[in-house]
Amino acid sequence: MLKNKTVVITGAAKGIGRATALRFAKEGSNIVLNYRSSVPDELIKEIEANGVKCLAVKADIGSFEDAGILINSAFNEFKSIDVLVNNAGITKDNIILRMSEEDFDSVIQTNLKGTFNTIKHAAKIMLKQKSGSIINLSSVVGLCGNTGQLNYAASKAGVIGITRSIAKELASRSITCNAIAPGFIQTEMTNVLSDKLKDEILAGIPLKRFGQSDEVAELAVFLAKNKYITGQVIAIDGGMSMA
Ligand code: NAP
Repeated sequence: MLKNKTVVITGAAKGIGRATALRFAKEGSNIVLNYRSSVPDELIKEIEANGVKCLAVKADIGSFEDAGILINSAFNEFKSIDVLVNNAGITKDNIILRMSEEDFDSVIQTNLKGTFNTIKHAAKIMLKQKSGSIINLSSVVGLCGNTGQLNYAASKAGVIGITRSIAKELASRSITCNAIAPGFIQTEMTNVLSDKLKDEILAGIPLKRFGQSDEVAELAVFLAKNKYITGQVIAIDGGMSMA
């Protein structure tokens, strides 16, 4: 079902994005792998070992122009954009009294504006195709809020707003848009947290373990295959956000 489809994944050099790129490649999809700083050659080789093509595009998705270059490069190479996974994201944590305006703005710029930027460029291609699947990485923090993460929470709650609005706007052309809201997934983003904080988080996870990038990647593939789920926010968090 995803064989020979074009899948664009932002921030895919590591973490959840990397796992997602590899998982879609296993389905036979051609991968457009966006990165900001660098991408290891081995990752591109590992993706292509599935018999698919991989186009690596350097772009800062917080830049409207760069996002356009990413989407247009993908379309020029593969002549379609079937799945867009807005995965790139950053954190710059601090409590309100210590959070700088720059740290607020840069998190919003990457996580929220970046999601707008890629969708804005990809939507016209998907509208012409009359098909497509957009998957946005939100977070349980966007649903519940979190001490020391007001910028991140605002960006990820905003991503949910974009997701539901785009789902409504594009549904008539058979384009779906959903959000994934992970809890604590073991990646470089979460590895920087102190052991004390990790223990506190673990205590609040009913399934009593952290999640893995592969588990999120599996959900992204599921959402890309399903044509009747749209406008939803799927938490993948070991039960962390249960009321
Ligand atoms: P990660 O390991 O820190 O990887 C993030 C990736 O995004 C990196 O490859 C990074 O590239 C890239 N990136 C950052 N800013 C970018 C930009 N402006 N343009 C292009 N690429 C950019 O993070 P992760 O844990 O895999 O998280 C992936 C997504 O899931 C994020 O949106 C995150 O908010 C969300 N999420 C993660 C968790 C979790 O527990 N890990 C929980 C909830 C939600 P560079 O290395 O070059 O900067």
